[in-house]
Amino acid sequence: MKDLKPLFPDLPNVRPIVIAGPCSVESEDQVMTTARQLAADGIKIFRGGIWKPRTSPGGFEGIGEIGLPWLKRVKEETGMLVSTEVATRAHVELALNAGVDMVWIGARTSANPFAMQEIADALKDFGKDIPVLVKNPVNPDLELWIGAMKRIYNAGIHRLGAIHRGFSTYGKHLYRNMPQWHIPIELQRRYPDLPIFCDPSHITGKRELIASVSQQALDMNFAGLIIESHCDPDAAWSDKNQQVSPEVLNVILNTLVLRDETSSTENLTLLRQQIDRINDELLELLARRMRVTCEIGQYKKEHKMPVIQQTRYNDLMERLVKNGEELGLTEDFVRNILVAIHEESVRQQLEIVNGKNPS
Ligand code: PEP
Ligand code: MN
Repeated sequence: MKDLKPLFPDLPNVRPIVIAGPCSVESEDQVMTTARQLAADGIKIFRGGIWKPRTSPGGFEGIGEIGLPWLKRVKEETGMLVSTEVATRAHVELALNAGVDMVWIGARTSANPFAMQEIADALKDFGKDIPVLVKNPVNPDLELWIGAMKRIYNAGIHRLGAIHRGFSTYGKHLYRNMPQWHIPIELQRRYPDLPIFCDPSHITGKRELIASVSQQALDMNFAGLIIESHCDPDAAWSDKNQQVSPEVLNVILNTLVLRDETSSTENLTLLRQQIDRINDELLELLARRMRVTCEIGQYKKEHKMPVIQQTRYNDLMERLVKNGEELGLTEDFVRNILVAIHEESVRQQLEIVNGKNPS
């Protein structure tokens, strides 16, 4: 994905790009009322789900294609670009024939390579240059997410974006879909030109948390936000707990603080130089530690000792957790680092004991 193109070349280059609209298109009235209010507040891209991938049968599965002319009316009357979710070839054809400007692919669909390929082929056959946003798959698998986007890219769609909407977990949690920020951050590291959106509505599942998650996304320099907004959220046919009225959305957007990524002060530069030096030192220390690990591996091999001595590992862990706390490091942080270091040490010692590593 080397030649990514701007998603919305005709829109002013603002940050964050905001996409807003109801979870589901329900009626012409609901769509038009919501869209007029959003447009009056300066929203330029409207979302509305026509086909809804519901977890259980019997829920509202979307109004279907009769809703497409309503999106067209939104476009004609408000000038906003309109977008909807597609999950099959038929959806792509119906949406594009109805003049939809952008499509997104949902989390249940992006987890399925067959569905992704079908959508990619349909987009290619249609041959229209539209932006496509791909939500992260329900499971935290970066390669699967990238694979889904590559299928779209290989179909000739270079106006491509990603949406972080959190990941499914079992049981009750603060968030409906837990965000795992390091995954979109790694995605951005690999594809610096890929615009990444945050979907605080599907991450949180709760209106009250949308502002704080949106702010976190901006702090991490996401390109945009996709937020569910409904003219009467409590009466929404789907996802009502996480939808906000256009007025509330406006308040949320106005309270967000945009950090300026280019204003790097002298102090910041100096602090970053310190971080760079410390990182180099950390790497050197780790390398030294690994060399000692290998010597111990050699000793264990010669004395026919097992690689893992559980009590030694437990003692070491407890001692460092305690020392770490005194230094202001949280227990989780210290444990996570030690687990990673220990895993690598065990792997290297096993290679020595099994004769793969000559050292
Ligand atoms: C949606 O955007 O309405 C939707 C169904 O989202 P997700 O695929 O993230 O669950
Ligand atoms: Mn929804």
